[in-house]
Amino acid sequence: MKIILWRIAQNCLPTGDNLQKRSIQTRYDCLICNRFETVDHCFFHCHYTKEIWTELKKYHHISLKVKKFLHIRQWLLEWINEAPDFQLMVFTIVVWYIWENRNNIRIGESFIHPQRVVGKINAYIDFVILNNFRSTHLTRCEAQASTPKWSPPPEGSVLINTDAAIFSDSCRMGIGVVIRDHLGVVRAACRCYVDQVEDPELAEAIAVRHALSFTEEAGFQSIIMASDCSTVLNKVKNVTTDRSQIGAIIYDIKSRALKFKSCMFTHVNQSCNVAAHVLARS
Ligand SMILES: [Zn+2]
Repeated sequence: MKIILWRIAQNCLPTGDNLQKRSIQTRYDCLICNRFETVDHCFFHCHYTKEIWTELKKYHHISLKVKKFLHIRQWLLEWINEAPDFQLMVFTIVVWYIWENRNNIRIGESFIHPQRVVGKINAYIDFVILNNFRSTHLTRCEAQASTPKWSPPPEGSVLINTDAAIFSDSCRMGIGVVIRDHLGVVRAACRCYVDQVEDPELAEAIAVRHALSFTEEAGFQSIIMASDCSTVLNKVKNVTTDRSQIGAIIYDIKSRALKFKSCMFTHVNQSCNVAAHVLARS
């Protein structure tokens, strides 16, 4: 899939302009909007691909900063250098799907609505997340003898790792949630963003609340909720009403926990919370 990035950087994809340079008798326009097809039009400036990117930004914190650039190679290399791994993964999948979709239209297949393309892209991204995080968690924890090992939950229950990350430059927080079963297999994972959160404890409490809600929606009933934030966990475990600034969220967490057949809260070392941490920061 990464070969597509190299071909964009080299500007050697058979887009309209390149086909014209080689004097290949075919259509040189974009089959969607009939404008002259260049690589930047195809991937970034066509209204069709713009709609795909706009829709995807609702799900993934991806910022392209694409302008009417002259040197796509330079722009792409700079962007790849600066982009976090997760954004790079999303970017690669998106351009691959855009190119595949463009080729399908060229060979006469019917036009697919951008939202359906986004649906396919998101399904593929989820697949990659689930498989990438399947075993890294176990491996990392086992490799570090000085830190507590990740322990699987009992059969019939799931362990939920959750983590929060604050992006101070944009005043928003990221939440990562990973649900694993007794074999260590990832059963579900998600990440999302909440605006206007700057306090670390508040962010961790919001993450735990979101993880409970996500787990309930996913249909799991016997759960162990793991977080690396001991202050939030202590407040959740305390039987008295929490009067701190996050009291309302602690109350909500306690109420949601009662909806499960069984729900236990546990503290984990940060090294055993890596997958959730990566998702939260992505
Ligand atoms: Zn177009």
